[in-house]
Parts: sequence; C-alpha cells; structure tokens
Amino acid sequence: MPDDPNRDGVLDACDLVRMFSNTVDEDRNGCVDPISGWDFFQDDNAPYDDVRYRHSTGEAKDSNDCAQAVVYAVAARCADTTASPSRSRSGARAPRPRTAVMAREVHLGGARTARNADGAIMASRFKNKVALVTGAGSGIGQAAAVAFAREGARVAVSDISEEHGRATVRIIEAAGGAAIFVACDVALPAQVEALVAATEKAYGHLDCAFNNAGIGGAQAPTGEYPDAAWSSVLAVNLTGVFHCMKRELAAMLRSGGGAIVNNASILGTVGFANSPAYVASKHGVIGLTRTAALEYATRGVRVNAVCPGFIDTPMLAGAGLTTNPAARAALEAMHPVGRLGTCDEVAAAVLFLASDEASFITGHPMLVDGGYVAR
Ligand code: NAP
Repeated sequence: MPDDPNRDGVLDACDLVRMFSNTVDEDRNGCVDPISGWDFFQDDNAPYDDVRYRHSTGEAKDSNDCAQAVVYAVAARCADTTASPSRSRSGARAPRPRTAVMAREVHLGGARTARNADGAIMASRFKNKVALVTGAGSGIGQAAAVAFAREGARVAVSDISEEHGRATVRIIEAAGGAAIFVACDVALPAQVEALVAATEKAYGHLDCAFNNAGIGGAQAPTGEYPDAAWSSVLAVNLTGVFHCMKRELAAMLRSGGGAIVNNASILGTVGFANSPAYVASKHGVIGLTRTAALEYATRGVRVNAVCPGFIDTPMLAGAGLTTNPAARAALEAMHPVGRLGTCDEVAAAVLFLASDEASFITGHPMLVDGGYVAR
C-alpha cells in the first residue's frame, strides 16, 4: 500500500496497515486485521486513501473513506467486549454505544506526529515522559491516552472497565506506542493508590496525569434530586479527583515535578438546570485545581483543568442527548460555533497544559467550549 504522500495526518491506507496488521501483503496490496477479520486492500494505482475492505464472512464494501473502514474493523473488535459489561459499585451497567467514538479516536495524525521510514510513530513533546489517564476506556480519556502515546509518552491507561481500558491499550500498541492497563475505580482510594504504584513500578516515575474519569448522574431539579445519585456523582467526579491528585502529587514530588490536568467542564463555571450534583462536582474540581496549584507552584508541579463544552462522547449518547436529533440540535445551538466538540479537541488542550509549553500556566481552568461560556 502507498504511504501518505501529504504527511498530513489524515487516516489513510498506510495507517490501516500499521493499526491492524503491521504486515503488508504486497501481492494483494493489503492486510488482514487478525482480530476483526476485516481484509483491507487496494486496487492497483488507486489513490492512497481509496481503500476497499471485506470480511471473511463474504461481506464486502468499497469505500474511499478510510474512517468508515475503521468503523467496521473496530466494531468487530469491540463486539466481544461490549457483550459482557462490567459492574460498578452502583450495580448493573448496560453496554453503551462506543464504536463511533473509538473509530474516531484511532486517527493517528496530528501536527506533532512524525513517522520514520517504517511508518512507526516518532516521539516529540512527551518523549521519556510517563502519563496516567483515568477513565481512559472511552471518550475524552481514550483520546487523551492515545494522544499522549502518539507524542512519545508511556501511558498508564486506567478505567473502571477492564475490557474498555484494554481496548485503548490495544489501539496504542497497534500504533506503535507503549501502554499498560490498570483497573481502577477512582472513587476507591485503595485502588487509586494501587494505580499510581503500578505506574511507578512499570515506568519508574510519573510526569503527567489527566484525571478524567467522570459520570453524568441523574437529571432532576435540586429539590427532587435523589440522595444516592448525589453521593455517587460527588464520589466519582470530585472525591475521585482528590484521591488521584493526592497520590499523583506524592509521586511527582518523588521524581522532581510534573503536571496534572483535571477534567472539569463548562458546568464547573456556570449552572445547568436539573444537574445539581454534576454542576457542584465540576465547580469543586476547579476549586481543588486552583488550591493545589497554589500549594505546589514552587515545588515543580503545575495543576490545571480543562472545561469542555458538550463533547460528542458515549456519556452524552448514554443520556440520550446526541442520539435524539432534537436534543442534539438544541445542544449544538448552545455553542456559538454551532456544533459539539470532539474528543480530539479536548485532548489537544490537555496535552498543551501537560506539556512544557505551558510552563508558566498553573491554576487555570481552560475552556474548550466553542464559545459556550462567552454568550
Ligand atoms: P465517557 O465516554 O463516559 O468516558 C468516561 C470513562 O470513565 C468511561 O470509560 C467510564 O467507564 C469511566 N468511568 C466511569 N466511572 C468511573 C470510575 N468510578 N472510575 C474510573 N473510571 C470510571 O465520558 P466522557 O464524555 O469522555 O467524559 C470524560 C470526562 O469529561 C468526565 O469527567 C466528564 O464529566 C467530562 N466532560 C464531558 C463532557 C461531554 O460533553 N462529554 C463535557 C465536559 C466534561 P465505563 O464506560 O465503563 O462506565
């Protein structure tokens, strides 16, 4: 298969080979993903992004849209894992639609990505760095974990779901990156302690942490909000960030410094009817971020937050906000740019705040919101 002639980071046939096989069958000008069974191939003299693909069952598709090809392959890869959802402290958890998000997150491009002659990822901003990401099995966390790896970091991928976290590790490894998976419910301090310890044991130190795990919780007016929902949202979204920061700060001080980015929200800066627990938890995350930033400013640890607007992730889909066309249109209209954000757009802000480029930035809640709060 031909290489990406533009080196523009657009998903193309070359990326598919590296993602799914790493072995090109020159006779057939293609490769087979050993996990999903999808066979990607090209006709002679086809443009570099004109990929055809078919499954061993006989199903065949033609497309010049590589992203669509990846959707099929990732869907096949995910079929086994989504069939047996894990359970959380709060009880049964239903499988959620993940395919579209995962397919989008495996884009390997990016302004700072370079490839060597073999097509392998070359490190840049986070070379020799170790990054930890919670809630990395889905949505924004998965995008950030993949982005850290793409830029050279070794990544501790953590999630409450082993299946989803391991899927993220597979994406990173298939692209030539380095990652371990550590299962962790951030609401449980012993598990967070073990997560940071496992990261240090595997990689020797901790440089960057993205405390991302979060849940939406029930929707009801404050006067009717269920006590149990309040407790679980605060336990994950706010206390979970505290549990993580406490152990990460200790690890970073042990190795001479680092950078923490917490995932807050626009709803950490403004109210939102019928989401009192979520809004309170995200306001708390920003307060915690600012406080720790003051405490560790002279000790080599910067602490910042991202405040995303509404981002197209399984969290929104699970709440019916993006699957219902009317609800989606209403959400889009709340953003002056006229659309929802993407996971990659949030990940870009996270990596900037975690990088040395942000060396004079601490205690900052960075809006990534398409102008939502500017209205
Ligand atoms: P998502 O797709 O649901 O991803 C969240 C991940 O966290 C999932 O993999 C989830 O696992 C995991 N998780 C849930 N509870 C956990 C726990 N107790 N410990 C460890 N991991 C846990 O959601 P997302 O939209 O990417 O959200 C990520 C973060 O961004 C959250 O903090 C959210 O509040 C914040 N945020 C999102 C938006 C948005 O519009 N999407 C906007 C602003 C801020 P399971 O899938 O197995 O449950």
